[in-house]
Amino acid sequence: MTSLPLVFDAPRRGLPPRHLADLSSAERAQAVADLGEKPFRAKQLSHHYFARLTTESDAMTDIPSTARDRLVGELLPTLLSPVRQLRCDEGATRKTLWRAHDGTLLESVLMGYPDRATVCVSSQAGCGMACPFCATGQGGLRRNLSTAEIVDQVRLAAAAVRDGELGGEDGARGPQRLSNVVFMGMGEPLANYRRVVDAVHRICDPAPDGLGISQRSVTVSTVGLVPAIRKLTEEELQVRLAVSLHTPDDELRNTLVPVNTRWTVSEVLQAARGYADRTGRRVSIEYALIRDVNDQPWRADLLGKKLHTHLGQFAHVNVIPLNPTPGSKWDASPKPVQDEFVRRVKAQGVECTVRDTRGREIAAACGQLAAEG
Ligand code: SAH
Repeated sequence: MTSLPLVFDAPRRGLPPRHLADLSSAERAQAVADLGEKPFRAKQLSHHYFARLTTESDAMTDIPSTARDRLVGELLPTLLSPVRQLRCDEGATRKTLWRAHDGTLLESVLMGYPDRATVCVSSQAGCGMACPFCATGQGGLRRNLSTAEIVDQVRLAAAAVRDGELGGEDGARGPQRLSNVVFMGMGEPLANYRRVVDAVHRICDPAPDGLGISQRSVTVSTVGLVPAIRKLTEEELQVRLAVSLHTPDDELRNTLVPVNTRWTVSEVLQAARGYADRTGRRVSIEYALIRDVNDQPWRADLLGKKLHTHLGQFAHVNVIPLNPTPGSKWDASPKPVQDEFVRRVKAQGVECTVRDTRGREIAAACGQLAAEG
């Protein structure tokens, strides 16, 4: 059996230079003072970054130019440069491949809907969880992203939405404000625990300390690292937890989500229940439906039963039609099989919906673009 990298916080290897968004507001004031500038400049800088969404020193006319260049140079280094951008869904979905300071590639996907705009961010470059159906899982973990590299993906998405870069349906202008953030890009967020939790604070703190997005509009998705779910439960956050279950039985889950050999389905669901009890929030159960692999009627029945027992009304199943990765032998289930699966889960009294699948034709799902390079 392959050994799994179960560390929660891998080394700082390759992390970028310090950035304003790595720091709490107290740390920002200190960092500015250490540079010999007046502490209130930290607030001004934060206002430019988190409220005006800019890192351009020319735009910061309230800061004297000498101080400005120094502060921007020290605290707002460029973290992400766009390498490629792909659009589909009539412009309402946009995927960006970013290059970090050390050449590492990562992706984020921006999705506009009539009533909201969501960005799907990466928490790691690559992923160590090795789920065989996921493109990112095939390449292994390259490195953790820093807090600021995560926050900057959201900041850039928020600026794009504000600037009308996301086309709406029928060419209409989409929403004007980024409303939702999902940690469903590359990586296992709970394996980069501290940086992800810090990023959630920066994303959700009211401007100018943070980007001012509601915690309830942020989703953290995990393969089910049980101790980390318990730790997250203690953080007193209101973010939504999503658990990538993909099958209700340990035997198959050991192969689909290899970390299951460490924490079983029951243990994961118990931890999820703990999170739901503490936060009062329903847990999303992610289920990538794979033809002839996990789509059998008996599995739908077992899924419904187990979720009913462990989570009751606190479960919401999201069925995701499998997005086949290049070279994979697996495919999505036929529509009638999918419909029957959903019907059976619901028959157990558990909510179940099919995820709208954006960006298929631009390989927007799950690490495909970075894998293509
Ligand atoms: N590591 C985290 C978050 C990243 S992936 C997690 O596993 O939850 C976000 C979701 O996309 C997960 O539920 C993942 O299992 C799913 N996913 C990965 N590859 C997929 C594919 N090819 N088709 C459909 N869903 C996929």
